Amino acid sequence: MQLYQEQHIKIYNSLSGTKELFTPINEGHIGMYVCGPTVYSNVHLGNVRTFMSFDMIFRYLKHLGYKVRYVRNITDAGHLENDADAGEDKITKKARLEQIEPMEVVQRYTVDFHNILNTFNFLPPSIEPTATGHIIEQIELIKNIIDNGFAYEVNGSVYFDVHKFNETNEYGKLSKRKLDDLVHNTRALDGQSDKKNPQDFALWKRAEPQHIMRWPSPWSDGFPGWHLECTAMSTKYLGEQFDIHGGGMDLKFPHHECEIAQNEAAKGQSPVNYWMHANMLELNGQRMSKTTGNTVNPDELLSGNNKFFSKAYAPSVIRFFIAQSSYRSILDLTDDGLLASEKGFYRLMDAINLLGSLKSSEKSSIAINAWKQKCYDAMNDDFNSPILIAHLFEAVKYINQVKEGSESLTSEDLNTLKETINVFTFDVLGLENVTKKDAGTDKLSGAVSVLIKLRQEARANKDFALSDKIRDELAAVGIQLKDGKDGTTFSVN
Ligand code: AMP
Ligand code: ZN
Repeated sequence: MQLYQEQHIKIYNSLSGTKELFTPINEGHIGMYVCGPTVYSNVHLGNVRTFMSFDMIFRYLKHLGYKVRYVRNITDAGHLENDADAGEDKITKKARLEQIEPMEVVQRYTVDFHNILNTFNFLPPSIEPTATGHIIEQIELIKNIIDNGFAYEVNGSVYFDVHKFNETNEYGKLSKRKLDDLVHNTRALDGQSDKKNPQDFALWKRAEPQHIMRWPSPWSDGFPGWHLECTAMSTKYLGEQFDIHGGGMDLKFPHHECEIAQNEAAKGQSPVNYWMHANMLELNGQRMSKTTGNTVNPDELLSGNNKFFSKAYAPSVIRFFIAQSSYRSILDLTDDGLLASEKGFYRLMDAINLLGSLKSSEKSSIAINAWKQKCYDAMNDDFNSPILIAHLFEAVKYINQVKEGSESLTSEDLNTLKETINVFTFDVLGLENVTKKDAGTDKLSGAVSVLIKLRQEARANKDFALSDKIRDELAAVGIQLKDGKDGTTFSVN
């Protein structure tokens, strides 16, 4: 008997706009695809929030006993500037600016991405495929779509014919847009484009002479469109129909809408049973985004070396802060919010660390099984982590009451309490057991960031003797400062 046979999950399906009872295609197995990062710059905390939401979901599904195949791709080609069909490839552009190979860009930021996720205690996905590793699959898919009459070639590029598709299918059903409205809201063709209609999107683009990332195809030496990679890779590893597809809310249109269209055009069926979209992280009330520069990188938040926050925060505190909102709500990252989460997080850890010292009694005065089920109910209700955390704080109260002797638990109930709180705190929410004492490193980060700020002031005042002194004396005690484009970071030897 697996837990999933008694715990029934409801998922908010963005396609239907309602919470639906979750039934996987194959009992006991779940296929889940989440759009991964485009590896052309450091991930910011907004990206981390989205991936963290799906990490928590992955963890809970595994805890329930499902065999989950979780595929999260790496976009290393085909993602053009402004998410459009014209403009430079984001990775090629970075390579040109830094005068390195595109694959060096990919390597650098893939490593950065993995390091950040490790810091935040993510579980690795089951498969992490790359777009460049699946060019053949993408070419085959384009051939299918052309054969079925839903794409056309012009000058070596291939475009998806949205209007033709909409005659038999429904383009816009995920993002709730009507093609007619899209037609009215799109600018007329500027004469530069080969597309029949501005709503059409590229499946294959002929590479301009300066475009380095290119592959041979039946149509031209070129590269695949961004939307196509996810269709090719999800189909390859999860099948033509699978259970869950996730990503940030900003990917609903056009990216996910186009994925649905491509699948229906190639295979005649809608690929995904449950579409899940994580909401955006804001920084002091404004959407966090690489394009606008309103971002904070995880390193800056962890070291305290940034202009937004009063101190450094431990990874688990940030994870806890993120879990305190539903993945479907907009979340504003503020210093006050983080300070409040830090207090709550350490209160929870202190209570958990008391568990070993609690004494059992003959009788229980607390209905612990009812409390346990409430934890499951919260997660079963579309992974409602803030409600789960409220129940964990209920347990903090129980722990303190049992410790003081005002409430009692039998040894069996005490074990249930221990097991349940550990499962949800560590296995499901992915927090790590650090206490304020362990957070000495956190204090060290705070102290070093004060010195980094003083050094920046010294430099601004052209007091290079002082700035060098700060750097050298820190180095002498084993703390290396590293100046980068985005500020100064440090490492401890
Ligand atoms: P990108 O590398 O820009 O393709 O983004 C990777 C993932 O992060 C996508 O799922 C985006 O939807 C998500 N994302 C981007 N900005 C934010 C944000 N401010 N808050 C939450 N998720 C975001
Ligand atoms: Zn995708």
